[in-house]
Amino acid sequence: MTVSTPGLVCSHHHLYSGLARGMPAPPRTPETFLDILELVWWRLDRALDLETIEWCAKLGALEALERGCTAIIDHHESPNAIEGSLTVIADACDEVGVRVSCAYGVTDRHGPEGAAAGLAENDRYLGDGDGEGYVGLHAAFTCSDDTLAAAAEIAGNHGVGVHVHVAEGEGDTWERLLPYSDDDWLLIHGVHLPNDHGLRGTLVHNPRSNMNNSVGYGDPARFDNPVALGTDGIGADMLEEFRLAYVSSRTTDVTATPDLAWSWLATGWDLMPAARQDRVVWAAESDDPWWLAFTPGTSPLEVQIDGETVWEDGLPTLVDGDEIRTKASEAAQKMFRRLEEIEP
Ligand SMILES: [Zn+2]
Repeated sequence: MTVSTPGLVCSHHHLYSGLARGMPAPPRTPETFLDILELVWWRLDRALDLETIEWCAKLGALEALERGCTAIIDHHESPNAIEGSLTVIADACDEVGVRVSCAYGVTDRHGPEGAAAGLAENDRYLGDGDGEGYVGLHAAFTCSDDTLAAAAEIAGNHGVGVHVHVAEGEGDTWERLLPYSDDDWLLIHGVHLPNDHGLRGTLVHNPRSNMNNSVGYGDPARFDNPVALGTDGIGADMLEEFRLAYVSSRTTDVTATPDLAWSWLATGWDLMPAARQDRVVWAAESDDPWWLAFTPGTSPLEVQIDGETVWEDGLPTLVDGDEIRTKASEAAQKMFRRLEEIEP
């Protein structure tokens, strides 16, 4: 039995983290959320070059198709390979056939020059018309006031929003975004936001990542903002993320229904409307959220993007999936060797 849905949307991804699986263990066990950033992700992003980014993005796009996700809203950081990185990601996804919205996560962690280069890459990508996107900010707590203002200004110039992590852990200075936020912004996580935070934009909930980082449950139902679902870089299996969002909501409210989590998944179609035209045929008996919430492992049989079949009989049609997995694995090994040299 089969049902079909539009293409699913991952409203917050980090394609660059696709090769992190199998990476060498950090120098010590992270004990806090900041430790996880400093010992794992802020070392990994420094090991990225443009070639690695290309294979990360192709692998991530392939794995998205495999799970019926046809549109990815990506948030990227590669401090040693900033210029051109967003176009590499857009081209890689285009080759596989997946829609992508790109943003470079600007930060002052690497000094004002690093922040300027990140701002310039967002401005270049959006100005060159290489694809759709947002202006990215890592998070307020790693950005200067000037950087926050510049990001908002560049976004305004291009008529797009800002894609920024907000209150994922305790200690984020998210209040500094209040003068700038707008309805087209993407506010990622919001775990530690008060109910009446006052930020404008779509709140993107990433339940698996939040559990993995032990940052707490964000309970996004408490906000007035629209809510969407993302993976925060842990693949693009959006039905799985929907199921997690549902059971997470039940941990605090036994009356919460799968319809609520499904409405969050559906917000992705407001953010990337073109994905509504895509078609995914699933090996499932019903597309009712109650059915899907209790049908783990449902897989797509066919994926069409923009009328073209890009996934069929367990394989991509535009690219050689085995070649992508092999090349990505080789790129990962090279990156792991570079990573050994990078101090936290
Ligand atoms: Zn993220």
